[in-house]
Amino acid sequence: MTQPVHPHYLPAEDRYHNMAYLRSGRSGLKLPAISLGLWHNFGGVDTLENSRAMVRRAFDLGITHFDLANNYGPPPGSAEDTFGEILRKDLHAFRDELIISTKAGYYMWPGPYGEWGSRKYLISSLDQSLKRMGLEYVDIFYHHRYDPETPLEETMSALDQVVRQGKALYVGISNYNAEQTREAARILRELGTPCLINQVSYSMLNRWVEPDLLDAAEQEGVGLIFFSPLAQGMLTDRYLHGVPEDSRAAKPGTFLKRERITEEYLTRARKLNAIALMRGQTLAQMALAWVMRHSASTSALIGTSTVQQVEDCAATVQQLNFSAEELAAIEAALA
Ligand code: NDP
Repeated sequence: MTQPVHPHYLPAEDRYHNMAYLRSGRSGLKLPAISLGLWHNFGGVDTLENSRAMVRRAFDLGITHFDLANNYGPPPGSAEDTFGEILRKDLHAFRDELIISTKAGYYMWPGPYGEWGSRKYLISSLDQSLKRMGLEYVDIFYHHRYDPETPLEETMSALDQVVRQGKALYVGISNYNAEQTREAARILRELGTPCLINQVSYSMLNRWVEPDLLDAAEQEGVGLIFFSPLAQGMLTDRYLHGVPEDSRAAKPGTFLKRERITEEYLTRARKLNAIALMRGQTLAQMALAWVMRHSASTSALIGTSTVQQVEDCAATVQQLNFSAEELAAIEAALA
């Protein structure tokens, strides 16, 4: 059961002592090595006090970056409502210490203007997000997925527009491949609003960025923030002894299906867990350090369901380096 949170929040004074902050591409902005995403466990269906406790603890541990999207919930929009409430109650006085992002791209409302990449959709969606969170501006506004039908010039010029309107300080793209990233970066550069970052999936179990996106981002001066670095919990000790009833794999309507917890998966996960223990880390910490090992990496964007998970993940920064032997052992475990 969740403990009630204290009504008055004063952040830890030592909150900047341990976290690492990395520059996003060739920008002026640094992000924490570990960022917190509000895709799951912050919706209207979740317990506000638990969501609130996780955000507070994250900020206490130097996690300055909170990632949202118009559609996070469920129901869609409710994660932004929840975060708005936490801001009002706890973090209002610390707005200038926070990097808050939101996105538009996936389905949000009916009709032709409620998804994809038109100027009409992006501008309206950001206005809705600002209202839900009670903010005048977000720090980063993302286009959530590449739209094959809308001219990229229109989508990028909508991003440029929100910066000029003062509704976002920086803009980014999400789920764009190497070629799309290069093109988006070029257009944004010409518009005078550089592309800050690309938010993409990456983990030991999902390595699509390795062949060309890492290099493309670095060459374009675009940062990379990696979502689902724990493969939604599969790169943690969560499933080593069965599927807990409160886990993502056990919950209906999530993208992590129980069927993925196979014997073959468990064999790999146990090997990885043993390597992590030899490094003096939890498997979650090793998985996060592993995505952060590239020069193009800006931040590992985690999700959490408990305060303990926030603490475990934040402590990753105590050991980010790998020996060649450890990297080889990980490759062998994954093979
Ligand atoms: P993760 O891979 O970090 O998975 C999070 C889950 O892992 C948690 O819910 C929890 O599972 C488990 N977990 C986390 N920490 C620990 C720990 N220390 N020990 C054991 N288990 C742990 O990321 P998500 O898939 O949640 O994605 C993170 C964020 O990325 C999202 O909130 C969102 O902001 C962003 N995102 C962006 C997308 C995009 O298209 N741009 C798409 C998807 C995500 P459990 O709940 O079972 O406890």
